[in-house]
Amino acid sequence: MTEVTSTPRKNLLGMPKAKLEAFFAEIGEKPFRAKQVMQWIHQYGVSDFDEMTNISKSLRTKLKGICEITPPEVTYQNISADGTRKWVMRMPGGSSIETVLIPEGNRGTLCVSSQIGCALDCSFCSTGKQGFNRNLSTEEIVGQIFNAIASFEGIDRNKERPVTNVVFMGMGEPLLNFDNVMDAVNLMMDDLAYGISKRRLTVSTAGVVPAIDKMSEVTDASIAISLHAPNDELRNELVPVNKKYPIDVLMTSVKNYLSGLPDKRKATIEYTLLAGVNDRKEHAQQLIEVLKGLPCKINLIPFNPFPHSGYKKPSNNEVRRFQEWLTEGGYITTVRTTRGDDIDAACGQLVGRVDDRTKRSERYINMRQVNE
Ligand code: SAH
Repeated sequence: MTEVTSTPRKNLLGMPKAKLEAFFAEIGEKPFRAKQVMQWIHQYGVSDFDEMTNISKSLRTKLKGICEITPPEVTYQNISADGTRKWVMRMPGGSSIETVLIPEGNRGTLCVSSQIGCALDCSFCSTGKQGFNRNLSTEEIVGQIFNAIASFEGIDRNKERPVTNVVFMGMGEPLLNFDNVMDAVNLMMDDLAYGISKRRLTVSTAGVVPAIDKMSEVTDASIAISLHAPNDELRNELVPVNKKYPIDVLMTSVKNYLSGLPDKRKATIEYTLLAGVNDRKEHAQQLIEVLKGLPCKINLIPFNPFPHSGYKKPSNNEVRRFQEWLTEGGYITTVRTTRGDDIDAACGQLVGRVDDRTKRSERYINMRQVNE
């Protein structure tokens, strides 16, 4: 006797148009069904096939038997006094990730995670200290925008758009989860789904150069580079992936990416200010040199402290001074203001509990004990 095993239902939430069309073709249905289903899922937030009223009852029954629309489970949601929303979502396997929505005027910027934990171990990042568990699937990434919009119950989706911008600045290194992230980017930008424009969707990377080089083949989204240091010696220490892809190689790759875009676009250079480490005048001067010839704007992020990090946040005056040096050097320079402080949503504090597959979190805890 053969054992009957049920095949898992296909989760349609993470399927970009081409994949969804192929799926419908596979089950003997017309490809235009993909378009209809995409709109139901992403534009109307529908996860129950029975609500898809322009699809025949028999097809709905068929779909219910073989697929599903299942977003990640939200285990915690908090709305800050300033409107910032934060979610903790539990992923199959037990670990959690965090997603944050920052409203600002008529913009809503969603900060999404791409991996559970992170393998890069930047010295000042709390996610790095937790080690790495696994990549998120496309549906787990798209599920974050799906859940974020769903939290605005009862809004008229034709009139109100709670999410206008997306940044991959949550947990993880998006370019080390290339295929899933690019499928998610593609879906978020699709007019049949979330319609986020290419200027309002930003992939942030610590500098995985081969993946930046590959990006232009699959997307024209915007890019942010987590630079944090203006010379290789310091950057090797803060952002260890720099030992593999040093600053000049990284700058060339970003320039190539920008010049391949169909419009004039600037990269965002992220620079976390660590008191006494990378915030002196000489660093500003070196940074101005390093960025020559790269169309960019600079975003300064005052360090968000976490226990035993070993770093300090510079004073507001020091931050302002560093900003002035760069502005005088000709660069548009903004300072990221901390939002959602009361709910711990600030950058680098997106601490879900990671079931670490590396021994890094253990090493960090041991090191903390030695230093205490
Ligand atoms: N892996 C991606 C996304 C990371 S998070 C990247 O490196 O770009 C987004 C930004 O927050 C990065 O620039 C990261 O370096 C910065 N960051 C991480 N921890 C921080 C902290 N404790 N304080 C301030 N910025 C931090």
